[in-house]
Amino acid sequence: MKTIIEPFRIKVVEPLRMTTREERATLLREAGYNVFLVKAEDVLIDLLTDSGTGAMSSLQWAGIMRGDESYAGAKSWFVLQEKIHEITGFEHILPTHQGRASERILFELVGGPGKIVPNNSHFDTTRANIEHTGAKAVDLVIEEGKHPTTRHPFKGNMDLAQLEGLIKEVSGSGGALIDHIPLVMMTITNNSGGGQPVSLENLRGVRKICDQYKLPLFLDACRFAENAWFIKQREPGRRNRGVREIVREIFDLADGATISAKKDGIVNIGGLLLMRDKELIRRADELLILTEGYLTYGGLAGRDLEAMAQGFEEVTHEDYLQYRIRSTEYLGEKLLAAGIQIVEPPGGHAIYIDAAHFCPHIPPHQFPGQALTCALYREAGIRASEIGSVMFGQGGTPPPMELVRLAIPRRVYTQSHIDYVIEAIIEIYQQRDKLRPLEITYEPPSLRHFTAQFREL
Ligand SMILES: *Cc1c(COP(=O)(O)O)cnc(C)c1O
Repeated sequence: MKTIIEPFRIKVVEPLRMTTREERATLLREAGYNVFLVKAEDVLIDLLTDSGTGAMSSLQWAGIMRGDESYAGAKSWFVLQEKIHEITGFEHILPTHQGRASERILFELVGGPGKIVPNNSHFDTTRANIEHTGAKAVDLVIEEGKHPTTRHPFKGNMDLAQLEGLIKEVSGSGGALIDHIPLVMMTITNNSGGGQPVSLENLRGVRKICDQYKLPLFLDACRFAENAWFIKQREPGRRNRGVREIVREIFDLADGATISAKKDGIVNIGGLLLMRDKELIRRADELLILTEGYLTYGGLAGRDLEAMAQGFEEVTHEDYLQYRIRSTEYLGEKLLAAGIQIVEPPGGHAIYIDAAHFCPHIPPHQFPGQALTCALYREAGIRASEIGSVMFGQGGTPPPMELVRLAIPRRVYTQSHIDYVIEAIIEIYQQRDKLRPLEITYEPPSLRHFTAQFREL
């Protein structure tokens, strides 16, 4: 059989609330044409993010009941520790309440004014946590990764020549290199670059440069399993390797990792910080106790630790990954076939529509991506997020791309939900000249996409 089906059946359901187009037009106007300000219960298909929005399995819910809520040394902690050790090989594991808590601890320890942290592409919270310490976050993704229509199997790869160039430039400024570049980071998959994977070959290349210059390599490993699946599919010689084996190869290359369990942990809350350096661990333990919680629960309840342990197990199952990556690809292929430009090839967790191509009659300063998110909500009750001039254009310079992201929650929507999304987007595309430009009526001083309000022109 060629058909790939959802490798699960549904045991608990949550009804969706249908709304009419008139109701949604009113709700959208009341929300100032910003879908962040629309109530979740007024959304039919919510593709705002894949973070913390996944559906847990029956075994994860069983874990919730089993959770040991002892303050120290809870049984649930050892279940999680053992599972993460088994998957990643890391001995020392710090539990945090989510990915950015791990980032905050890490960069409080190694960041600081004047320092530089290279990455393929920093995720926005990673960048913000680095910059909060006075350090600089630098993106060095390969050229192919910056163009929506350029196809490359591993568009998340780091440009190795640029990395080495940066290191050499910094070495010239005197002192120990590690005092200037505390670590090199690699985000797998590259969320800010369209959910595009990184190859093992590229990770090895980065490791080699790190070894040569004695720099630590850290992973932002939020979607490590999705990345491993892409390696299995696309990297020469990896077809017959198991995903678990590839995952282990990836983590063996790293000195540490920050992970948001809200992605490939398939839980609603949780994070991890992994490290090998004894001195760094000692200082991180101190900070963990200071701001998250005791070493054996971090910022979480015992039941969360159980659900996480089971989620990390399930996310590495190949039938799950095949379904996961195929369902995202299915959405992307159908849109491309209808002539709708997306970031190619489809990423792991989301499809990014090129809104500048979708509505060429709306210039960047009148927010083509926002106009499309408004149409998606008003016409079909679909919530997506604008990643373009609203999110990144606040300083006045428009970003290189006007995108609308359709992020796919894990195990939540069926193929007919996705078919509905496809049909809706194609219908809007056929009447795209009706999409209305927008004007900002209110904006906060920063991060305006969350709360800005608009008016249709
Ligand atoms: C979500 C995410 C983070 C931050 O994790 P939170 O759990 O949202 O704090 C960091 N890096 C990447 C690549 C992410 O996708």
